[in-house]
Amino acid sequence: MIGAVDIGGTKFAVGVVNESGEVLARAETPSHPELGLQPGLARMFEMLHAIQEETGQRLQGIGIGCTGPVDPYTGQLGLIEFLPGWEWFNLVDAFEQEFQVPVFIENDADAATLGEAAWGAGKNAERMMYVTISTGIGAGLVIHGQLYRGAGGSHPEYGHHVIDFSGPKCFCGAYGCWESLASGTAMAKRSGGISAYEICLAAQRGEAWALSAVEQEGLYLGIGLANLITLFVPDVIALGGGVMQSRTLFWDKITTTIQNSCGLVPFERTLLVPALLGKDVALAGAARVFIQRYG
Ligand SMILES: [Zn+2]
Repeated sequence: MIGAVDIGGTKFAVGVVNESGEVLARAETPSHPELGLQPGLARMFEMLHAIQEETGQRLQGIGIGCTGPVDPYTGQLGLIEFLPGWEWFNLVDAFEQEFQVPVFIENDADAATLGEAAWGAGKNAERMMYVTISTGIGAGLVIHGQLYRGAGGSHPEYGHHVIDFSGPKCFCGAYGCWESLASGTAMAKRSGGISAYEICLAAQRGEAWALSAVEQEGLYLGIGLANLITLFVPDVIALGGGVMQSRTLFWDKITTTIQNSCGLVPFERTLLVPALLGKDVALAGAARVFIQRYG
């Protein structure tokens, strides 16, 4: 049994996951970033101890997926936009001390990608990407079962490549990056604060304003995905996250944008598929981090 920890700006989740990626028990709590690091850590420890007791299982180790930049080798956090005051803290040391088992950490998008690659939509793919489109855009790349890493173990930010430099300024420093234009947050901003979910519902009812918002979103999604295909031509791109629940609304625009933009690569070899792990992806992915690194 593996302990799994998912640390995000909105919520903290913990789970007990078996070696096939099944989440056997879980608990979660809102992050409340304003309360700071130590109270947040204490709540996660408490939840993980509680579900461990509830399942009666001994944990072999713990995997963590954490938002923002993390050093996967040392366990130290970088400057995390959504968790002020957590920078430079070593989460791996803290969990190892508390639970007395080996602990490994990855950026949350990388963790989710490892989970989808092992147990989800990427199971039989040699080169797979996972892209999650929700409040932000996160993605990871797994090649022959191994995570692609940047220099020093860094996580490449596939969601922050620029698609229109006349676009809005993002906290990453760039103007008009993919996340700043195609995330659910960006979609809502363009429609005067109406949530991405509400826009999709209205589009399904055939309301003209929502159909045009969806068309615009499909174009931005398509440009970003076309760029990933031109750069990597993966066998599979698995699409997850809240906005992709309504993927059928964007599908035509996405596929025509890819067809029109990827003329130099065999884009038809890249399968665009829905991610398969659903709400379990973060915890299964965190557990996969442990399996991948401990073995
Ligand atoms: Zn950005």
